Amino acid sequence: MFRATILTLYPEMFPGPLGLSLSGDALARGLWGLETRNIRDHGLGRHRAVDDTPAGGGPGMVIRADVLAAAVDAIAQTEDVRPRLLMSPRGRPLTQKRVRRLAEGPGVIIVCGRFEGVDERVIAARGLEEVSIGDYVLSGGEIAAIVTIDACVRLIPGVMGKNASGEEESFESGLLEYPHYTRPREWEGQSIPDILLSGDHAKIARWRHEEALRLTRERRPDLLDK
Ligand code: SAM
Repeated sequence: MFRATILTLYPEMFPGPLGLSLSGDALARGLWGLETRNIRDHGLGRHRAVDDTPAGGGPGMVIRADVLAAAVDAIAQTEDVRPRLLMSPRGRPLTQKRVRRLAEGPGVIIVCGRFEGVDERVIAARGLEEVSIGDYVLSGGEIAAIVTIDACVRLIPGVMGKNASGEEESFESGLLEYPHYTRPREWEGQSIPDILLSGDHAKIARWRHEEALRLTRERRPDLLDK
C-alpha cells in the first residue's frame, strides 16, 4: 500500500484537503495511508528549538541539520525504501511522469521546509531529493506536500473509477488535454461542436487529438519541444 509520511512543523495542516473527495474517500477505504510527524518533537532545549540563524548572516532562520536528521532517522528504518522528498523551490520540478513512478511505488517520506529552508548538510546526508511544485515561493512545504500526494493518490489503482484511468489527461501523452463539453447542448449562444455529437468515435478521437495539439502549441510549446 502507498504510505505517505510527512515531517512537518504543522501536522495540523494534514490531512486537510487530502481528507476530502477522491483522496479522502480512498484514505477512508484504506487504499493509501497517511502519517504525520512533528519535527519539533526532536527540537532542542526547553523550547524545542528547531531552527537557528543562518551562518554568514542574512535574514530568516534555517532548520537545523541535527534536528531534522533526528526526525528523519526516527521514521526511516533501513528497510524503508520509500523515496525521501524535500519540498523545495530549488528542487527538480514535479512532473506527471515522476508522479506516476511515485504512485507505483511503496509511498513517500516528505520533509516540509519552513523559514529560509534547511541546513544544506542534512540533504545529502539523509538522501533527501529536492522537489519543486513550480517556479514560485510558498511559505512552507506543507501545501507542496499536499499537491504531491494528491497527484499520486489519484493514480493508485481503485482510487479513480474504472472509466477514469487518467491516461488521457493533460501531460500523460506529452500534450495538454482536449476541451470538454456536457449538457445543455446550447448555452449562452454557444453549441457543443457537432463532431462530438456525431457518434463517429474515430472522428471524435482525431478531433480531440488535434485540439490537444492546438492547445499545447498555443499554451505550452515547451512540451512539444520535449
Ligand atoms: N529561501 C528559500 C528559497 O529562496 O529557495 C525559500 C524558502 S520557503 C519560504 C520555505 C519552504 O517552503 C521551503 O523550504 C520549501 O519546503 C517550501 N516551498 C516553497 N516554495 C516551494 C515550491 N515552489 N515547491 C516546493 N516547496 C516549496
